[in-house]
Amino acid sequence: MHNSSLQQLSAALRSKKISSVELTQLYLDRIAALNPQLNAYITLNPETSLAQAREADARIATGNAEALTGIPIAQKDIFCAQGWRTTCGSKMLHNFVSPYDAHVISQFNNAGAINLGKTNMDEFAMGSSNETSHYGAVKNPWDTARVPGGSSGGTAAAVAARLCAAATGTDTGGSIRQPAALCGISGLKPTYGVCSRYGMIAFASSLDQAGPMGRCAEDLALLLNTMAGFDERDSTSLQRDKEDYARDLAKPLNGLRIGLPKEFFAEGLSSDVAQAVEAAIAEYKKLGATVVDISLPNTRLSIPVYYVLAPAEASSNLSRFDGVRYGYRAPDYGDLADMYEQTRAQGFGEEVKRRIMIGTYVLSHGYYDAYYLQAQKIRRLIAQDFTEAFKQCDVIMGPTSPSTAFKLGEKGDDPVQMYLSDIYTIAVNLAGLPGMSIPCGFGDNNMPVGLQIIGNYFDEARMLNAAHQYQLATDWHSRAPQA
Ligand code: GLN
Repeated sequence: MHNSSLQQLSAALRSKKISSVELTQLYLDRIAALNPQLNAYITLNPETSLAQAREADARIATGNAEALTGIPIAQKDIFCAQGWRTTCGSKMLHNFVSPYDAHVISQFNNAGAINLGKTNMDEFAMGSSNETSHYGAVKNPWDTARVPGGSSGGTAAAVAARLCAAATGTDTGGSIRQPAALCGISGLKPTYGVCSRYGMIAFASSLDQAGPMGRCAEDLALLLNTMAGFDERDSTSLQRDKEDYARDLAKPLNGLRIGLPKEFFAEGLSSDVAQAVEAAIAEYKKLGATVVDISLPNTRLSIPVYYVLAPAEASSNLSRFDGVRYGYRAPDYGDLADMYEQTRAQGFGEEVKRRIMIGTYVLSHGYYDAYYLQAQKIRRLIAQDFTEAFKQCDVIMGPTSPSTAFKLGEKGDDPVQMYLSDIYTIAVNLAGLPGMSIPCGFGDNNMPVGLQIIGNYFDEARMLNAAHQYQLATDWHSRAPQA
């Protein structure tokens, strides 16, 4: 049962083959057995989850079930959920119990889904390996000596190890796609503005976007149907008609034009990843797609631009954590200013402090024009690259990450090496485009490789179609790590 797709689970629930209480208990038992090794969850509330499951069973009995009613979903611990401790992977929020639901959480609640638990993540979503979490690193279920990727690493590990039916993530520079790739699952970052950011703890507001992570593209479409939608509480939420993201899944791929950016296959890409991605492209050709060589000339600037803009926004967003309103407060202090200083010195980890310092620097008088403004201009050029590229192709494909999962501790001392993990994902956030990662094989040491699919604005249905057709023809997405 724990290997089933969401459609299969939904059918089993409706036909009463299994109840939501039984299904929730099944996952809670798997979590109890496997989470001590993987550390994928920060907070569990079995009683709350089971109470939701009982309600879902009652709803199913009345014949009012929706696609996700009764299905246990894990939530990245960046989403505020009423009555749940919500830490964002930080010491700063170690004791914060949210008094309200994020929009995404209330959408799942309205659909009758079960909140199975809050998943581990890098502190305030800053990281690519989950090693910056205050709650300890997450282990990759394919090899527990390796990282699961980040920052949605707890979610990716939980989905890969079948410790939930599906889950949520957020992606500011790659945090859905990169961990999905490293753990061999599917994940999608929608067009900026498709999912409301209300109640999603802010890192870099102009880049942050919530999205689904699951076993296959079909599951992602069902999840996105629930997560997406206008919300007036987020001023960047887009007012668009509700769409069915599964509507094009069955379409054949004849005539699909796939753009291959030469910058994504250049120096820095591991040969094992390149091989798996090239094999996937060959499979797409068999499915009727054609391939076009394209260029995204400003790719190499995306990391420096991101590491000016994201820290700038983070330094402003994280100023609210001051020991006054919520979360950690230093136990001993002198006056008010000392209380702020002690609280922030003790409450934030190293990576978060690094970003706050960089952000404060690039926004300060005298440096603003040289760094922040300049970065904004290059951001526009990066977006322009994609606009040009999409004149020649329908989707862009390439690797999600330059290598498969690296060893725990391997890049911890070298932030720049860590930042380079996101070289193929960050430009997508800077442009506000949708991007996804699906499993496409295994590289050295039998670690999963992810294929990235980038779409034009609001082209999620077409990307999901391309991913689903590939998954009908291959079985990489159904491989699971040994328990
Ligand atoms: N790894 C990137 C960073 O550390 C992206 C993180 C994210 O997408 N949340 O900022």
